[in-house]
Amino acid sequence: MASTEEAVRTEQSTLQELGRRHLWMHFTRMSAFDDHEIPIITRGEGCYVYDEHGNRYLDGLSALFCVNIGHGRADIAQAGADQAKELGFFTNWSYAHPRAIELAARIAGLAPGDLNRVFFTSGGSEAVESALKLSRQYHKLTGHPNKTKVIARDIAYHGTSLGALSATGITSLRQPFEPLTPGGCHVTNTNVFRTNSDPATLADAIATRIEFEGPDTVGAVILEPVQNAGGCFVPPEGYFQRVREICDEYNVLMISDEVICSWGRLGEWFGAQRYDYLPDMITTAKGLTGAYAAMGAVIASDRVAEPFMHGTESFIHGFTFAGHPMASAVALANIDAIEREGVLENVRRNEAPFRDMLESLRDIPIVGDVRGAGYFNAIELVKDQDTDEHFSDEESETLLRGYMSGELFRRGLICRADDRGDPVIQLSPPLIAGPKQFEEIEAVLRPVLTEAGKRMRAHA
Ligand code: PLP
Repeated sequence: MASTEEAVRTEQSTLQELGRRHLWMHFTRMSAFDDHEIPIITRGEGCYVYDEHGNRYLDGLSALFCVNIGHGRADIAQAGADQAKELGFFTNWSYAHPRAIELAARIAGLAPGDLNRVFFTSGGSEAVESALKLSRQYHKLTGHPNKTKVIARDIAYHGTSLGALSATGITSLRQPFEPLTPGGCHVTNTNVFRTNSDPATLADAIATRIEFEGPDTVGAVILEPVQNAGGCFVPPEGYFQRVREICDEYNVLMISDEVICSWGRLGEWFGAQRYDYLPDMITTAKGLTGAYAAMGAVIASDRVAEPFMHGTESFIHGFTFAGHPMASAVALANIDAIEREGVLENVRRNEAPFRDMLESLRDIPIVGDVRGAGYFNAIELVKDQDTDEHFSDEESETLLRGYMSGELFRRGLICRADDRGDPVIQLSPPLIAGPKQFEEIEAVLRPVLTEAGKRMRAHA
């Protein structure tokens, strides 16, 4: 009979083989696993996850900005199991069920202003897709049938379905699928490290583009409170207020894409609250359930919902699983936990020490900028600290994929080494993290960034 150790080894190699043969991983170069193991994460607890070999990792990215209240919360999962016993599934097409209603009311109570109407989806891309379709139908119903275009910002990521992809501003993600859904237009983002930092000038790029496209053809503007892709671009003070004015002036709906920036990531329920603006719609997902179930939502203002509430009108759109009872029950339990455990307060209390730790890395020559808000930060890497010289695409590839991604993981830190814009390291730990985790992050980042700088100098 095989020993327990042998049995574990056999199970591990079987998983590796089956994974290589059958699993199609997202946004992943499968060829990387020809001569490397697939990282197989088997369990999680708080801020940490463990792989199949029992190695522990600090989850410095909250499993893609999702597991905000931490891993291993049996109580949150239990809310889904309890719901399954009562009513495992029913749809939101023509019918409702108690948890979806309760959750919609709960979300409306937390959302800013008159954002009172909640349309559930199963994830973030579906939420963005739904918001874009809602914008089109809203304008048709209110007498502006040509307002079909959407303005988004350069390098922004708004999802992968074809409609959402037309808002996504990352060339390499768009090109393989062209022609995309028509109507996506792009303007400058708020990368104040690299460009202009005047909020009015940055926001006025939206007005200029509306004029260029024709005001009667532009229906919506979509922006994240802090733009993820490119590395946590924060808005300069007054930016969103000016965007709001522009949207009002041109009858363009303002969509705040908060798939990442809601549920405490920036220390508030919603990112719009942190920057004090009132959008017409919020799109959300990820942290809504703490990722213990797949769920997203569009939260629409009374004004946007109003034309759909009369006579024969309806929003001609839906997804079978949206508002799933188990996901709704999990989301309610998650929101309860965030409130009961003071999760937002934890972020507000620790945001400055987290940032200070990252700022302390500026003495490393490769660190060009540190930016972000709440528990959502990025370090931009530069070739020369004095001139902020960019790395070339080839250098970025060598730096990130050739060294940093693997080395950070090997040393037990999961974070994102990303080059959708200039190369950045992104850190976005669970919202329950504190000084102990910040110390651990620093203990890995400092030597890896230092070594990366040396290697790049040698490579030059
Ligand atoms: N919008 C934003 C701002 C996102 O960050 C993401 C995903 O990261 C999406 C939309 C798409 O969400 P999903 O991956 O759940 O479809």
